[in-house]
Amino acid sequence: DTAMYRAKAQGSGRWEAHVPGSPDPAADRLVLLEQLRSAIRDGELRVHYQPRMALPGGGVSGVEALVRWQHPTRGLLQPDSFIDAAEESGVIRDLGAWVLTEAVGQAVRWDAAGVAPGLQMAVNVSARQLADTGLVARVAGVLARAGLPASRLVLEITETALMHDPESALTTLQALRSLGVLLAVDDFGTGYSSFTYLKQFPVDELKIDRSFVAGMTTDAGDRAIVASCVHLAHAMGLVAVAEGVESADERDALLALRCDQAQGYFFSRPVPADEVPFPATVPA
Ligand code: C2E
Ligand code: MG
Ligand code: MG
Ligand code: MG
Repeated sequence: DTAMYRAKAQGSGRWEAHVPGSPDPAADRLVLLEQLRSAIRDGELRVHYQPRMALPGGGVSGVEALVRWQHPTRGLLQPDSFIDAAEESGVIRDLGAWVLTEAVGQAVRWDAAGVAPGLQMAVNVSARQLADTGLVARVAGVLARAGLPASRLVLEITETALMHDPESALTTLQALRSLGVLLAVDDFGTGYSSFTYLKQFPVDELKIDRSFVAGMTTDAGDRAIVASCVHLAHAMGLVAVAEGVESADERDALLALRCDQAQGYFFSRPVPADEVPFPATVPA
């Protein structure tokens, strides 16, 4: 594979095998991107699903689709190791389209199997995808081809991505909203949201960042932040979702704050479709 080799800037001008993890990050990145392009074509991407639980009650109300890469030599790669490069290079467009199609198709397969009627399918959308003028048509096309009602799809967009270009984000969100899809602000509390925009964005959910959830049982500041996010969500008519719940204590604290939904390792890690714990085999 020629992509695995590059000319080293050595006086000799000879070629040398370049191995990911070597001290040349720029070269690693090029190799990674070239491999990622073919990975999308060759079917090396996977989607894992993490349940999102209704509080209280404990039922699985939805799942979040999270991409993984079954790399031929490096094993199962988590998004942290390739999403940023995909985003900066534009490969995220193809990757995002693939994940959307796969996740929507999985929702339809689960419907056919009758495992979880009305399940919400949440898919992450990056800043670059949000800025892509083809996004709205692509989402509409994927839903129509699969036959999934738009109201079953949640698009998660980080606060940072929304605030990158809030005016154009607003236009795109409005177009997505008119398709009937639901919109969530992801990693809420970690970006630079302005309330001026937040009140204008036609969103349905706030996903409270896991950094605050992780501290809420030990740190009064984190607890106050989570409480404020839940109150803000409710005051604005939005659903409050807590990310990264790892313990029963955190779950109980969220229940006490009347947080609507929760997601985290306490309930389930992200898993392949056939391992999602339907319906109530997860801690309630
Ligand atoms: P995110 O959308 O905020 O997803 C939540 C991340 O938190 C996931 O990491 C999930 O595995 C992790 N997580 C869930 N529960 C817990 C917990 O209890 N404790 C801890 N420590 N972590 C928990 P993951 O799967 O590595 O994804 C990381 C980020 O990569 C995502 O953050 C999202 O921003 C991005 N991403 C993943 N899949 C896609 C995709 O298909 N498209 C785009 N554009 N971005 C994606
Ligand atoms: Mg997310
Ligand atoms: Mg998040
Ligand atoms: Mg995140």
